[in-house]
Amino acid sequence: MYTLKERDYLVNWHPYTQMKKADDIVPIVRGEGAYIFDENNKKYIDAVSSWWVTLHGHAHPYIAKKVYEQLNTLEQVIFAGFTHRPAVELSERLLALLPFNQQKVFYSDNGSTAIEVGLKMCMQFHYNNQENRQKILAFKNAYHGDTFGAMSVSGRGIWTQPFNERLFEVIFIETPTEENIESIKKQIAELADEVACFIYEPLVQGAAGMLMYEAAYLDELMNFCRKKRILLIQDEVFVGFGRTGKIFAANHLSEVPDVMCFSKGLTGGTMPLGVTTCSDLIYNAFYSKDYTKTLYHGHSFTASPLACTAALASLELLLEEATQEKIVNIVTQHEVFREQLKTHPKVKVVRQCGTILALEWKTEEETSYFSDMHKKLYPYFLDHGILLRPLGNIIYLVPPYCISTVDLNYIYKTILKALDEL
Ligand SMILES: *Cc1c(COP(=O)(O)O)cnc(C)c1O
Repeated sequence: MYTLKERDYLVNWHPYTQMKKADDIVPIVRGEGAYIFDENNKKYIDAVSSWWVTLHGHAHPYIAKKVYEQLNTLEQVIFAGFTHRPAVELSERLLALLPFNQQKVFYSDNGSTAIEVGLKMCMQFHYNNQENRQKILAFKNAYHGDTFGAMSVSGRGIWTQPFNERLFEVIFIETPTEENIESIKKQIAELADEVACFIYEPLVQGAAGMLMYEAAYLDELMNFCRKKRILLIQDEVFVGFGRTGKIFAANHLSEVPDVMCFSKGLTGGTMPLGVTTCSDLIYNAFYSKDYTKTLYHGHSFTASPLACTAALASLELLLEEATQEKIVNIVTQHEVFREQLKTHPKVKVVRQCGTILALEWKTEEETSYFSDMHKKLYPYFLDHGILLRPLGNIIYLVPPYCISTVDLNYIYKTILKALDEL
């Protein structure tokens, strides 16, 4: 008899995994709240929200009930030529929470597709307006997904290397600080007439290692781009839905983007769904009697009624006062722990944005995704019943909002213990 782990190894190819070295894959049989349980009923605290998606905990009964009801009512219908209540309601509720200029919702399946749609909207916007703007701006170290367009606007590295020559050209700029903001503006000004759009992760560059920068300088950059008629694509795939301490990163900014992308926490992490929203400025460039101005893009499961229902249920939970209090509680606890870490001799730097906390472990080598620290840290935390996935020597926490104070403190304590022992 093969174990589940052995059967998995025979047939499955896992994401971001060198299978030759993948002898540590853990079969999970159920989830509840902030926990996942393996075959031996060993409990792990999911401190990374299962790749940053889970908001209210695993197998949430309210979301499950709503999805089950929808499953018995309408599980799927083609979204070209048809519509349904979950998609209409979700769009209405989302738009009401977004910056005032966001007026239309385009659905897809995941974060990468939400980005593809956003890029196509901006590129075709100029095409439809017969303007020749071909260049695209993105931040160094950006991560916007793994499909080709999303890869193109992401920082280049070992991940993209086999494809680099086939990715479209992008101009990478630094994330803004007090020191470099003027020189970034100068750099943009020189090619402004040729730039179609600027895509960015607001406040936190997640996959880059939870790198953070200030809202004030992003506002300044957004304002500058707007004046140069460069369209803005705000990628809130990771930071949306409360991660930064506010519902959206947009709530930290006074400038508004033209296009916004969401996924991950959108359904509370229960079902795959992507959303791209846009302003009337964008929408009206496509709104025409001329068929060539249509956005010819769609996915089989566009606006899945099940996923939209999960998103509605998750949004309801997110807006509850009790959830908002939990978010504040996580933010406050992180702040206390951050102070503790600041002076720790093995900690190079510690960063926090809302519920996201990251620390860089001091190592001989430079900070890197491929740092050997990951190989030591990842199993150490698993042994201690905590799912953390350090990005090289960067340990970060992105907990689901339902996590208890006791569990958070246990994670903090275990991180301090690791700093002592490893
Ligand atoms: C994860 C992520 C994406 C891609 O989303 P997928 O659903 O994994 O395709 C895009 N942008 C950001 C900022 C992300 O963190």
